[in-house]
Amino acid sequence: MDLIPLPYALDALEPVISAKTLSFHHGKHLQAYVDNLNKLLPGSGLEDLPLEEIVAKSSGPLFNNAGQVLNHNMYFEQFKPASSVMPGPTGHLKSQIEKQWGSLQAFQDEFTAKGVSLFGSGWVWLSAQEDGTLVITQEPGASNPVCHVMPDPSSVMPDLIGHPGPTTVMPGSTGHLKPLLTFDVWEHAYYLDWQNRRGDQLKALWGILDWKVVEGRYNTR
Ligand code: MN
Repeated sequence: MDLIPLPYALDALEPVISAKTLSFHHGKHLQAYVDNLNKLLPGSGLEDLPLEEIVAKSSGPLFNNAGQVLNHNMYFEQFKPASSVMPGPTGHLKSQIEKQWGSLQAFQDEFTAKGVSLFGSGWVWLSAQEDGTLVITQEPGASNPVCHVMPDPSSVMPDLIGHPGPTTVMPGSTGHLKPLLTFDVWEHAYYLDWQNRRGDQLKALWGILDWKVVEGRYNTR
């Protein structure tokens, strides 16, 4: 497993994410997860699987490092300099968001709030169920939505998947989740630039989100 190259210059996402944060986050944190994964994978029996399956099938240190590699790869690949991003999604993703939340702004507000309210280190995710229905989940630590099969909403445990309501889980929608979009709420993702203001950084991340990448993930689920 190799460290992914960043698809932009280190200073391209400033002032939302500084070159200093990116150099530590990508060059030190992600590099360490990649190095640990490469030490733990041989002999695990999972070494020939795609990364998503390694994450879904592993546990302990192997899971923690594989999960963090997958999470960070998807995180870094979804951003773009603010000057070149589209203001929102188009096509099927746009209509699905509007169907479930009423507007892009209402979706973004709920997603940001779930990032702010996640206790400790983790990730907030938007994922698609097999029927195209979207769901927001709060994932602790190194977790990723590929770890879950979405239970029937009537038996959902709020602590497991956040606080799903009628706007995030539609009755009868179950199945595997395809991760589409994520914000990293580990302190290392924002502390150098924003200190304790996690919510301010999450709000600012919308300005550098490359919706084309998110749409591509949705359309190939
Ligand atoms: Mn991180």
